[in-house]
Amino acid sequence: RNIQRFSTAAAAEEPIAPPVEINYTKLLINGQFVDSASGKTFPTLDPRTGEVIADVAEGDTEDINRAVSAARKAFDEGPWPRMTPYERSRIMLRFADLVGKHNDHIAALEAWDNGKTYEQAAKAEIPMLVRLFRYYAGWTDKIHGLTVPADGPHHVQTLHEPIGVVGQIIPWNFPLLMFAWKVGPALACGNTIVLKSAEQTPLTALYVANLFQEAGLPPGVLNVVSGYGPTAGAALASHMDVDKLAFTGSTETGKTVLGLAAQSNLKPVTLELGGKSPFIVCEDADITRAVELAHFALFFNQGQCCCAGSRTFVHERVYDEFLQKSKARAMKRVVGDPFKKGVEQGPQIDSEQFEKILGYIKSGKESSATLECGGGRFGSRGYYVQPTVFSNVEDDMLIAKEEIFGPVQSILKFKDQNEVIRRANASKYGLAAGVFTKNINTANTFARALRVGTVWINCFDVFDAAIPFGGYKLSGTGREKGIYSLQNYLQVKAVVTSLNNPAWL
Ligand code: NAD
Repeated sequence: RNIQRFSTAAAAEEPIAPPVEINYTKLLINGQFVDSASGKTFPTLDPRTGEVIADVAEGDTEDINRAVSAARKAFDEGPWPRMTPYERSRIMLRFADLVGKHNDHIAALEAWDNGKTYEQAAKAEIPMLVRLFRYYAGWTDKIHGLTVPADGPHHVQTLHEPIGVVGQIIPWNFPLLMFAWKVGPALACGNTIVLKSAEQTPLTALYVANLFQEAGLPPGVLNVVSGYGPTAGAALASHMDVDKLAFTGSTETGKTVLGLAAQSNLKPVTLELGGKSPFIVCEDADITRAVELAHFALFFNQGQCCCAGSRTFVHERVYDEFLQKSKARAMKRVVGDPFKKGVEQGPQIDSEQFEKILGYIKSGKESSATLECGGGRFGSRGYYVQPTVFSNVEDDMLIAKEEIFGPVQSILKFKDQNEVIRRANASKYGLAAGVFTKNINTANTFARALRVGTVWINCFDVFDAAIPFGGYKLSGTGREKGIYSLQNYLQVKAVVTSLNNPAWL
């Protein structure tokens, strides 16, 4: 019953609208909020207007060096990797409680900095962060090695040890969820961290990192450096004293950071990258439900999801009905200020993404695809884009191949199962897929044939803490969440002890 306080239902009925108090804009290094070494700051903008929300300390190489030193010291000499797993778990649980207590304030900051709706942040994302930290708090005392058989008179055991200082680089589309996916398992395993947030959305990582200090996390265990990719991000990826790197963002930048890691100290790298996920509607699907979920799969979070269902494949027998209903649904989508109740879609993150999306829409209009609705800017200020639907999309069109990362649905027609499997797999990406059918055999066939990290059957975007997430092909390497994420943050050590017990042998 106590959980009620932090449940989604407890989130404020009326949004807390900006201006929201901003308590932290400096870098968090060794438990202290400090200015950047250069003294420089950068502005973070309100996507509703393009106006400055706050000036934030701009981290660069020297700040990354300071943060890595603090994390190194906290790992080599500090209590965190040495305390009992139960003590670690209690700090993580205290943190989760504190985030729950500040749910609405954090949600307002997240919506302000990112443009996502307040309701989504308050009722789904912050509670998911809380859930994830509770989940990983539960793992701390269940991480252990094995006893393994040996051919000779030896006792052999494996120790599962924390990997050390972890560098984490996160994107702007889900600032706090990406924080949780990365920080949760790394801390559960006893590592120390330097996290670089995205330059578009630096505010909430600083806020919750402070709550971690309040929860009792020792100084230097979690350091947060705001700043730009090619400066602070690259310094972290190429740092000789960072033992592991975890990255989420574009495939192009993923390749860059993998190269930097390889050229420096060969640190292992996990990558969560882009996608062009198929959403497949079979002829026997529940069309009303499939339309709603296909709409959600694409338009959720302003279309800014790496796993967005951005290729909607529909069987030719149900294509016309599906198209009409999808168009009607998109035209009903409520676009506006993300702090207003009932609004489903806020602005895109920034002018760069806004222009990029309009560029893709232009290429769609210039192709032989049919623009069913939308197709332009929404309103006259900020980075709002009209919910846009294209039909008659062909596989080789730019809008069917590239990650648009915006509210642009592309609907494609198919005739049979083998054909759509081949077309769905003919992508450089392999992050996720949705399949809509009432036939269990069809569902099983798709589940095994699709070369993607997640297959959602008659559902989409189900992100429980225990469900692993990650990509095939150019969508990345490694898995986050669940038990699988722990492997990213552990080293395995074999300890071989000679048995001196001839009487028994
Ligand atoms: P990005 O890959 O450039 O940025 C992601 C993170 O990497 C940010 O923290 C950024 O500062 C950092 N970064 C950038 N360059 C770096 C470098 N050279 N070295 C180290 N770190 C670096 O993504 P973006 O520019 O914010 O968005 C571009 C595209 O990426 C989007 O249009 C979208 O297609 C894709 N994207 C994907 C995801 C995802 O979850 N898979 C998230 C955000 C963006």
